[in-house]
Amino acid sequence: MCNPQSVDIVASAEDRSTIDIDSTDREFVEMIKRVGGPNIQSCYQCGTCSGSCPAGARTNYLVRLIIRKALLGLKEECISAPELWYCTTCYTCTDRCPQDVKPTDVIKAIRNIAVAEGHMLKPHQSVALKVLEAGHAVPLDKESWQKLREKVGLEPVPPNASRYHETIEEIRKLAKKSGFDKLIAPKEE
Ligand code: SF4
Ligand code: SF4
Repeated sequence: MCNPQSVDIVASAEDRSTIDIDSTDREFVEMIKRVGGPNIQSCYQCGTCSGSCPAGARTNYLVRLIIRKALLGLKEECISAPELWYCTTCYTCTDRCPQDVKPTDVIKAIRNIAVAEGHMLKPHQSVALKVLEAGHAVPLDKESWQKLREKVGLEPVPPNASRYHETIEEIRKLAKKSGFDKLIAPKEE
């Protein structure tokens, strides 16, 4: 007999599970709406987003599934999933969604919530730390890169923090003021 306290989520034959409705977070959808995905509740699970998604074509990432889980209040599952970070923000799903859900914005909102609650993939954390260290996610200050730039007629050092080192201190101050430095601080294992 069907348990009235349970809900079936059908994703695929391999990923079928039953959830306890009491373990869901009913505030999660409202949080996503506030943080940047105001249209999430318009999703009717047509699957156009996942069917169009280049990241999903190469990985186990299913944007539709993350949105479904979010709508069910499965906050921890959403914010701790490594797949959450596989979206390349190409916006194809946003262009094609018939309900104007803007799935890319929903994913970005869930990512923001995830980072605020301590979930971040190490490679992203490393890039963020690089910004604090060098003032740029991809610093172009190595001699070999400078030679390459000159070879194609560019100035050896681009006009960013790689050239104006004093701006790095400003970037660090902004990170401290906004709390970004704490968000990306390496956590103790
Ligand atoms: S395309 Fe839009 S309506 Fe369809 S599943 Fe994706 S988010 Fe939901
Ligand atoms: S924006 Fe992200 S979720 Fe949407 S199609 Fe592109 S990679 Fe997939």
